[in-house]
Amino acid sequence: MIKQETSSRPFFYPQPGAALHCGGVSLESMARRFDTPLYVYSADQIVERLRLFEQALAGREHLVCYSVKANSALAILKLLAENGAGFDIVSGGELERVLAAAPEAVGRVVFSGVGKTAAEIDLALKAGILAFNVESEAELKLLAARARKHTIRARFALRVNPDVFAETHPYISTGLREHKFGIDIRRALGIYKSAAKERWLEPHGVSVHIGSQIRSAEPFGAAIERVSKLVRQLRREGIELQTVNAGGGLGVDYHAGAFDAAAKVEEYAAAIEDALGDFEGRLLIEPGRFLVAQAGALVARVLYVKRNGKKTFVITDAAMNDLIRPALYQAWHEIVPVRPRAGKARVVDVVGPICETGDFFARDRKLAPVLPGDLVALLDAGAYGMTQSSNYNTRPRPAEVLIEGKKVRLIRRRETMADLLAPEVV
Ligand SMILES: *Cc1c(COP(=O)(O)O)cnc(C)c1O
Repeated sequence: MIKQETSSRPFFYPQPGAALHCGGVSLESMARRFDTPLYVYSADQIVERLRLFEQALAGREHLVCYSVKANSALAILKLLAENGAGFDIVSGGELERVLAAAPEAVGRVVFSGVGKTAAEIDLALKAGILAFNVESEAELKLLAARARKHTIRARFALRVNPDVFAETHPYISTGLREHKFGIDIRRALGIYKSAAKERWLEPHGVSVHIGSQIRSAEPFGAAIERVSKLVRQLRREGIELQTVNAGGGLGVDYHAGAFDAAAKVEEYAAAIEDALGDFEGRLLIEPGRFLVAQAGALVARVLYVKRNGKKTFVITDAAMNDLIRPALYQAWHEIVPVRPRAGKARVVDVVGPICETGDFFARDRKLAPVLPGDLVALLDAGAYGMTQSSNYNTRPRPAEVLIEGKKVRLIRRRETMADLLAPEVV
């Protein structure tokens, strides 16, 4: 059913009747060792996905700035940094993570986000990040003031809003004028011109990010075409930008097993390349999901199978606090038994123990037969899974393991009740 050679997922059954594996490791043995719910990631696939971007962009000077918010595990940041990646951060906290995992990569960090505080700007200035993606004139003013105070010149890119529609879930679409993100591209020229006169500001680049889980290359091309036009206008005004940042947002296929990741990346890179025209500077991209989503699975144990009226509920020990994507974005995750049983598939709801009807992983889903005690794997859970987890219902968050070939590493231990209670006062 799930074969490794599709290159879409690193999870597979080595032979009929065997347990689901990641690399050389059985998920059954992982669950025994580390308990459930458990996030399992393939280091090999993350590195492979990074290589796809590196290869597709080989014809031009470029930097892949991994979007930390997709999965901010220190071990994953370190892995990506060792393989040459930079980072796109959206908070001072994410900068602290980069500094903890890969301090040598701080010069490859770009800082996005509509609400940067003075403290966050100071931290990033002193750390020596590559550039700020500035999302408003007020933020640019604050950046200039902080740069002057610390006498550190701030390299910035305006994050422009290209007014391009990208087909995705409305919560993760960001490139329209009505969204809170970026600066109206029609106003960018004037802002660059006045910023160029500021001693402590250096117009370094321009950036866009039109949304997430975008499946077609076309909107990326359309956005970069608008950006390229702005770059040419700026050049005529004597402002020579060194970088164009195309943002992140390339989507994966949550439904099918077979998905040609290499072809997707090539198509994406070609659309951007075409739109860049004669731009001779460096291209930055900020992929998050595409690098880590399919590398991860959330392994859960079935606690109960119960019938209410016409419906059958499979209740797992994982819940919406561990993986909120289905509840938040009506996201679809493939769910497979770790050790398949003989018998007919049944239509079920797969749900967690949390006291919310929104606490579901799948509704009216045809699922291979499972019994209490069985393990199931929720696939493609490597992005926006653990990073969006919470302690809702006072549930300690899952452990995380990173698998490299046959090597297994616990990269985050399971939270304990002591962890949860530590900040509180009675
Ligand atoms: C979230 C985000 C990304 C990454 O998006 P993906 O869809 O995970 O690739 C990149 N850039 C910015 C500014 C973001 O906010």
